[in-house]
Amino acid sequence: MLIFKKVADLRQWHTSQTTPIGFAPTMGALHAGHLELVRMAKRDGCLAVASIFVNPTQFNDPRDLEKYPRTTEKDTALLLSAECDVLFIPPVEEVYPPGKELTIELDFKQLDKVMEGEFRPGHFKGMATVVNRLLDIVRPKRLYMGQKDFQQLSIVRDMIRQLKLSVELVMCPTMREPDGLAMSSRNMRLTPEMRAVAPMIHQTLQWARIELGKNRPAAKIQTEALQKLSASGLRPEYFEIVDGETLLNVQHSSDSEFIVACTAAFAGEVRLIDNLVLKTGH
Ligand code: AMP
Repeated sequence: MLIFKKVADLRQWHTSQTTPIGFAPTMGALHAGHLELVRMAKRDGCLAVASIFVNPTQFNDPRDLEKYPRTTEKDTALLLSAECDVLFIPPVEEVYPPGKELTIELDFKQLDKVMEGEFRPGHFKGMATVVNRLLDIVRPKRLYMGQKDFQQLSIVRDMIRQLKLSVELVMCPTMREPDGLAMSSRNMRLTPEMRAVAPMIHQTLQWARIELGKNRPAAKIQTEALQKLSASGLRPEYFEIVDGETLLNVQHSSDSEFIVACTAAFAGEVRLIDNLVLKTGH
């Protein structure tokens, strides 16, 4: 596996490649979910490029940025085991050269205002900026991202459309622990007590799928889901049942062919997000 820290070196390497590139951007502290993105790229016949960059512009809370786990040595070994071809691990000034304005100013309509957008102001602007910048550096044919960050995917899809970028977005299903907890770099910060209650997030999403299937009003399911999460000792921020394209709330199962429940909850000091497709027409 080649390791590049500088944009110029990666670009130099790029000029001699003929095989299409599959790109998996990450913030490190890698787990099986991240590795699945790399493996999918390989299965699709691509050269797999993974990046590790803890993007400062997408953290609305400076303490969250500070506490974000950094495990570079272990990450490198994991990427090797997944047969990743290239690791791009730039310092901040390579991604954001001083004096160069790279901030993305796109109108994502409601996509970046609801759910995560409401609770993490500025997060998606920072995320879109770094993804656009990394795409410009890596120039992949395919971009591999996880369903775990469902709203992020919706926004990246919209950004690709608005900027007419020639990259194909590939969604990777959410990888979970055996008890259902979505894999996340943040899980390693959970106390044993909070690790024990965290699977309640997935259980509540599954419960919501059953309840929506009974044609119960979505608003009632949302309220009860929030109660369930709180009763288990979590501190939920939101539990929304939305149309999978527009991310706008649905009232009933019959409102859309593609319905997703998305939630965020604190488990102690650790903020976790997850989602589940409740209904799909295909
Ligand atoms: P992160 O390092 O958390 O920014 O995530 C980097 C990429 O990995 C994003 O596209 C995430 O959606 C994806 N990802 C994170 N967790 C999972 C998971 N449990 N399963 C699948 N993909 C994931």
